Amino acid sequence: MVISGLQPFSKGWFHWNQLNGYLMPKVLNTDLLNMTMIISRILSNDVIKISGGIQPSSNVYLIKSRNALIDLGSKQNSKEIIRELKKYVSLENIDVVVFTHLHADHTGNPLIFNNAKFYASKEELDSLNTPLNFADTGTLKKINLNELKKSITGLKVIKSPGHTAGSICLWKEDDKILFTGDTLFRTGAIGRTDLPTSMPKKMKGTLLKLAKFDYIEIAPGHNLEHERIL
Ligand SMILES: [Zn+2]
Repeated sequence: MVISGLQPFSKGWFHWNQLNGYLMPKVLNTDLLNMTMIISRILSNDVIKISGGIQPSSNVYLIKSRNALIDLGSKQNSKEIIRELKKYVSLENIDVVVFTHLHADHTGNPLIFNNAKFYASKEELDSLNTPLNFADTGTLKKINLNELKKSITGLKVIKSPGHTAGSICLWKEDDKILFTGDTLFRTGAIGRTDLPTSMPKKMKGTLLKLAKFDYIEIAPGHNLEHERIL
């Protein structure tokens, strides 16, 4: 794992409050953390990762140079996610929100972002009409969801069917970060393919496609093994 722009952390134990803005040291057993706590971490000079909270919820990524967000976590964690985001950006400055897919644990509370345009893949937009798609359809119909093209806000869009029909990954070439949604996790695990809009037969092709990217960082939708994942 290569991460730039991090401040070194001290060895050993420290108070929970000191975790904000710092990478959790590997020696720290994450099972001991109170996982209702939301924390932010610096992935690169341009990317902030916000994770944790009441589960199920997803990681939220801020691309600072583009005023863009990837996924929004879940609605139940909105207040805390916003608190973390405000350390780095004003909400009214968020121009773009990209959803890796439309499961409710990734789409949070989009109504908070008054000036943002929202994006998901065509296949994912179509799936909103599928019963049991695990989306907060009511809220998503209140925002103007735009169809993703080949790139968005400087990120390459990679169609990644498997977990859902319209899942996408995003490639940030300058940082060599691959945002993988619920397709691939850092442990090497892959997302569930037994959900109503999953396409299990497509997952292998998707993973082979991802393997071609020379990423130095995978930025998934979920990071801890005991998180509940949709
Ligand atoms: Zn999902």
